[in-house]
Amino acid sequence: MSQATASLNGIDFPLISGETILEFSRRIESEHTIPTLCDDSRLEPYGSCRVCSVDVALSADGPRKVMASCHTPVSNGMHVFTHSPRVEKLRRNIIELVLSDLPEQNLPMQGVPIKDNVNRTEFEQVVLETGVSEVRFVGRKSVDSLQTDEKGSICDTSHPYMRMDLSMCIDCNRCVRACDEIQGEQVLSVSGRGFDAHIIKGQDVSFKESDCVSCGACAQTCPTGAISDVFREQLTLVPAESVETVRTVCSYCGVGCNLEVSVKDNKILSIEAPKDAAVNSGHTCLKGRYAWRFYNHPDRLTTPMIKKEGQLTPVSWTEAFDYLANKLQTIKAEHGPDAIAGISSARCTNEENYLLQKMLRAVIGTNNIDCCARVCHSPTAYGMQKSFGTGAATNSIDDLKQTEFILLIGANPTAAHPVTGAKIKQKVMKGTPLIVIDPVKTELAKYAQWHIQLRPGTNVAVLNMMAYYIISENLIDERFVQTRTEDYQSYANAILALDIDELALISGVDKDLVKSAAIAYANANKAMSFHGLGVTEHSQGSRAIMCIADLVMLTGNIGSQGVGMNPLRGQNNVQGAADMGCQPHQGAGYFTVDDEKNSEYYQQHYGIQNGLVDNVTPWPAVNGYKIPEMFNAAIAGDLKALWIMGEDVVQTDPNQQHVVASLSNLDLLVVQEIFLSETAKMADVVLPGTSFLEKNGTFTNGERRVQKVNAAVPPKSGCKTDGQIIVEMMNALGHSQPTYDADTMLQEIADVVPFFAGITWENLGDNGLQWPVEKGGKDTQILHQENFTRGLGKFHFYEFEESTEVLEHGEEFPFILTTSRNLEHYNAGTMTRRTANELIVSEDVLLINPNDAASKGIKDQSQVKLFSARGEIELKAEISDKVSDGVLFTTFHFPELMINRVTGDVTDKHTKCPEYKVVSVDVAAV
Ligand code: SF4
Repeated sequence: MSQATASLNGIDFPLISGETILEFSRRIESEHTIPTLCDDSRLEPYGSCRVCSVDVALSADGPRKVMASCHTPVSNGMHVFTHSPRVEKLRRNIIELVLSDLPEQNLPMQGVPIKDNVNRTEFEQVVLETGVSEVRFVGRKSVDSLQTDEKGSICDTSHPYMRMDLSMCIDCNRCVRACDEIQGEQVLSVSGRGFDAHIIKGQDVSFKESDCVSCGACAQTCPTGAISDVFREQLTLVPAESVETVRTVCSYCGVGCNLEVSVKDNKILSIEAPKDAAVNSGHTCLKGRYAWRFYNHPDRLTTPMIKKEGQLTPVSWTEAFDYLANKLQTIKAEHGPDAIAGISSARCTNEENYLLQKMLRAVIGTNNIDCCARVCHSPTAYGMQKSFGTGAATNSIDDLKQTEFILLIGANPTAAHPVTGAKIKQKVMKGTPLIVIDPVKTELAKYAQWHIQLRPGTNVAVLNMMAYYIISENLIDERFVQTRTEDYQSYANAILALDIDELALISGVDKDLVKSAAIAYANANKAMSFHGLGVTEHSQGSRAIMCIADLVMLTGNIGSQGVGMNPLRGQNNVQGAADMGCQPHQGAGYFTVDDEKNSEYYQQHYGIQNGLVDNVTPWPAVNGYKIPEMFNAAIAGDLKALWIMGEDVVQTDPNQQHVVASLSNLDLLVVQEIFLSETAKMADVVLPGTSFLEKNGTFTNGERRVQKVNAAVPPKSGCKTDGQIIVEMMNALGHSQPTYDADTMLQEIADVVPFFAGITWENLGDNGLQWPVEKGGKDTQILHQENFTRGLGKFHFYEFEESTEVLEHGEEFPFILTTSRNLEHYNAGTMTRRTANELIVSEDVLLINPNDAASKGIKDQSQVKLFSARGEIELKAEISDKVSDGVLFTTFHFPELMINRVTGDVTDKHTKCPEYKVVSVDVAAV
C-alpha cells in the first residue's frame, strides 16, 4: 500500500496517523507555522479563536473550505493552504476583534514590546505576524468590573510567585484549561459575559485564598502575561539573545521532571518545563518551577572548614584534603578500614554516588557505604528482588495512558510526586477506577472508589485479605500463575487458611469494602499498582512489598503495557544511588559483595592488583554496615569516621537523640553540604559542595530513566562539585582518579554496571534512556515481559505481625503517629525553606481527629505536646477528619520542631529501614 500523503502549500508530505492539520504543518514547516492563540499542544484542541484557520481542499482543483487546523484531522490527499489571502484576512479580523477586548493602554501594537527587540509575549508575536496595526471596532473590556485589592490594584499580587493582571487577558481560556487538563485542580473558571467576561480563582478570590497548588501551568500557558510568574516577568525585560537556556532535571522528587533554565550572565532568571519532555510534558510542580533560589542563597557554604577548638574554622581546600588524608589514614592504620563509613546522597548525580562508593571500597577498603534508600525504599528493592529478581519499577509512568485500573498503596503522590499525582488524578477524573489503601484521607482518596483506611502498620493484613478474596473468588490469572510463577500452591493454602474477620478487626477496615476492591482489581483488564513509603517504612515493609508483588502475579498484571508494580521513589536520584552501589551488600550494578567472583569482577574494573586496595588492605569481601548499624557501631566505638555527602541525618533519621549521640562519639565526621545543616554543625570537617544547578551528570528517576543533568551556572565561588571533591580526596589518599567529568565517569560506569552498558553521554539525548540499556542504545520501558529477571516470579506468604513499637509502647502511648511530606516542602526543608515556599507553608502541624481532639480538650490551631518513649516536642494542632480516631499525622520539614525526637528504633526486619510510619505517642493540650 502506498504511503498516505497530504499537500502543504503545494508540496506533498507523508502523513502520521492521527495528526491534526496543525500538527502536520508544525512537523513539516518549523519556520512558516500557522499562528494560534487558544492552542497549547499539552491541551485538548479547543477550536475557539479560529486564528489557526487554513484553506483546505480535498483535491488539487476542488473547492476550498476554511477550517480550524487545530482540531481538523489531516487526511490522505488533502490540500492545505496555510497562508492564502482569505485566511490571512480572516486572521487579521480575528486579531482585531481580540484586541478590541483589551483596554486601550494594553494594545500591543501600540506598546514598546513589539518595536523593541526583547522577549515578546506569544500574543504580541501573533499580532506582529498577522500585521494588525489598528483596531477599527469600538467597545472595550472595562477594567472597572475587575476585582481590586485593598490598594485598588487590579493585579493580584497575593502569591509569592504568581501574578494576575486581567487587563491583559484575551479570554483564550488556556489558563482555565491548563488548570483542568494538566493539573486537574479546577481552580480557574470564567465569570461574566461579553466585555465583562473574566477569569476568576475559586469564588473570585485572590491566589492566596484560593486552592491553587502553585504549579504554574496557567502562567506557562498564558499567551499575554495576564497570568505570569515573578521569574518569567524578568525574562521579558532583557534582550532575548542575551538569555541562554539549559535543559536539566529537577532535584526534588523521583518523578524526574525536565526543566528549562533561563540564564543570563551566570544568573538564573526563570525555570519552565520543556513541552517535549517525556517525563513531564511541559508541566512541573511548584518545587521544580519556583523553589530554586536556594542555589545562590546567602547561607550557602563557600569555604571548607575544620573544627578547631570547637569552632568550624575556614581553611583552604589543600589544608582540608591534607587534614582528611592524614586523619583517614591514621584511623585506618589504627582501627582497620571498617572503622570508616560513608553515606551518599540521592541529591547527587549517579557519577558522584558511584565515586563515593568507589572511594570507600577501592581506596579505603570497606563495604561500609549506604544511602538514603535505607530510610525509604530499601524494602522495595529487597522485596521486588525476592519476588521478581529486579528491585525497580517494572513500567513507565506514561503507561497510565493505557491502564484501566489503579491500585495506590501508602502514597500521597499529589503532595509527594506532584506531576505523577496530577496524571493519576486526571486519569481517575476521566473514569479509571482507583483503590487507595492509606490510613490518611489523602487528596486522591477523595477521588477513589475504594478508600481502605487501615490502621497504620497493618498493610500486610489488608494485602493478604485482598489476596484471599482474589483466590477464593477464583479470579486468579491461571495461565500466568501456571507458566510464569513458582510456589503458588503453598502460598494459596496459607492465604486461604487466614481468619479474615480477625484481620479486618486488626486493621480496622470493612471486609466487604476490601472484598469489592479485590474483585474489581482482579477483574480489571490492565491494572497498575503504585506504592510509596506508607508501605516500606514499616517493620513489615519488605514483606508488604512481596505481598503487593503477590497480588500483581495473581492477576497477571506484569510484563506488558499499562500494568506492573511501580514504586514512587522518594528522592530524585535514590534509584541511581542504589544502582551505583551505595549499599553495604551490593556494589555498582547490584552484584553481592560477599561473592568471590563478584569481588574479582570489581577488582578487575577498579584496577586493584593482588587483591589489595593499597599495599596492605585487602579488597573488602563482607557486607558493610547499614545506616542504623553505622550509628550503633559509632556508639559502641567500632566506627571512628563517617563521611556524609549531602544528607542531614540529624534531622531526617529516626530517634534523633541516638543519632546525635552516635555522631558525637566519632573521631571524624566529614560532611559535604551546601548549607550548614544540623548534621554539618556537628562535623569536624565541612566541605562546600554544589547544587544540581551547578553540575553535570545524570539522575535516574523512579521509572529507571537515566537523564542528563546539565550545569546551568558554574559552581558558586569557593565550592566544588561533589564529584570533584571525592576525586581530589581519592587522589590525596593515593588513588589516581581523573578529574570529575560526567561523560568520562559515565563511560567508566557503563563498563562496570551491565544495565548501563549501552549508555553514553551523547545517546542519552534530551529524554534519557530507561535501563537496562543494551550496547547500541536500545533501552527498556517494560521489565519482565517474557521472563522474570529471576526466571519465575516467586510467591511469598507472610502473616501479619504487630510492630514491636505498638507491643512495647502502645499501652502507655495509645495514639499512632504517622508522618509524610507536604507539597510545598521537601524532606528536611534545607532547600525549600530557603525559597518563598516558606511564605506558603511555614510550619509543620499535627492533624488530629475531631473525636480525639474533643476527648483531649485540644482546640483547633492550639499548641499541643506530643510525646513518645524517646522524647517530646510541641507543635500546633489542626483538627481534621483526614485521620481516623487514634491516628495522628504530621510532616517533618522544619528543624526547629525536630519530629525525630519522638520517632523510634524499630526497623524493617530485612533491610533495617526505619518504621517512621508507626510511632506510639500520646498528645496533650499545652
Ligand atoms: Fe520536581 Fe517532582 Fe515537582 Fe517534578 S514533580 S517538578 S520532579 S518535585
